[in-house]
Amino acid sequence: MMHFPDSISTKLPNTGISIFAVMTQLAREHEAINLSQGFPDFAVSPVLIELVAKHMRKGHNQYAPMPGVPALREAIAVKTERLYGASYDPQQEITVTAGATQGIYAAITAFVKEEDEVIVFEPAYDSYIPAVKLNGGVAITCKLKAPDFSVDWEEVKRLVSNRTRMIIINSPHNPTGSLLKKEDLLQLERLVNNSGIIVLSDEVYEHILFDEQQHESVCRYPGLAQRSLVCCSFGKTFHATGWKTGYVVAPANLMTEFRKTHQFMVFCANAPIQHALAEFLQDPGHYEGLGPFFQTKRDYFLQAVEASRFTYTPAGGTYFQLLDYSAVSDEEEMDFARWLVKEHKLAAVPTASFYNKGHNDHLLRFCFAKSEETLKKAADILCNI
Ligand code: PMP
Ligand code: GLN
Repeated sequence: MMHFPDSISTKLPNTGISIFAVMTQLAREHEAINLSQGFPDFAVSPVLIELVAKHMRKGHNQYAPMPGVPALREAIAVKTERLYGASYDPQQEITVTAGATQGIYAAITAFVKEEDEVIVFEPAYDSYIPAVKLNGGVAITCKLKAPDFSVDWEEVKRLVSNRTRMIIINSPHNPTGSLLKKEDLLQLERLVNNSGIIVLSDEVYEHILFDEQQHESVCRYPGLAQRSLVCCSFGKTFHATGWKTGYVVAPANLMTEFRKTHQFMVFCANAPIQHALAEFLQDPGHYEGLGPFFQTKRDYFLQAVEASRFTYTPAGGTYFQLLDYSAVSDEEEMDFARWLVKEHKLAAVPTASFYNKGHNDHLLRFCFAKSEETLKKAADILCNI
């Protein structure tokens, strides 16, 4: 047996287990309602399940082509053109990934070199900064401005240096539910114009926007799209987070480099699911109604917590709602979240865990991709605190 010294030198010495795993585990231990990790508690379409079974029976059980099943890449190209008026070549500019997480990691790995700087907006989805660090890059954080969590573009300008390699954006935004507006995208486009900066745009919630707002994909902005990799997730769109299937679109010169890392991470994504998704995507009705569907849930949850001491700004998109507990406690977010799960059997995510260094806004994130019955039970708990 090999003997290691007391402390083994590793690449992420200060990183703990993901907050989603921690809170979900706590929810299990305490038999609590789990509004922490973002996943729906309702079923995947039986039509889609049947399609997966059909393709398994048909024998689509061996490796898919490295960039993805051609029919699915075609369907993604049609969808992207239809929604954003942007044309991507399925042969060279679209790759199916093992979830958006792998797409994000492959994109960062392909482009971020030792000591390159990557601008990340905080609060930030938990995988971005570790992925930058694992590739030897340096995350330069820029805080979104509460209460609407908007971007201060003047500050971003100040943070750009000749080492800036990448800017990561995410709209609709996890965990705040805020949206980038047309003006934000135009500001970003001006900022990166004539630079070597690559934009990584995490758009996994592209179909989940409320109050009739339109998703501002970077694909809509040719000046941005030519230097952007856009990451999407079928897990979010089709209520199948456990399938871990997503995709990345990018111009050919970026996609060529992306595929070099993708091929050695997973080689390809799950084959029968890709065949099934290719067929399912033929009907845009399968994703078009998602905004109103989740808006009903957001509104139901917000109305149900109206009588509580928790306050909020309604989420503009995603299936997450932040609630402010300042009127209840001045505890740190993690302490309050632990108390809530232990004493009241309700699990939520402290927004502090989306910051690289300590932070306390007295905000917890609640996932409302749940049945009304579950949301009602959760709201009753909050109303009694
Ligand atoms: N980005 C954001 C903002 C997310 O919320 C998630 C969570 N699903 C992901 C990426 C990862 O997506 P996937 O499950 O497809 O890997
Ligand atoms: N995206 C999901 C969330 O924000 C969780 C993904 C995960 O568990 N890693 O809750």
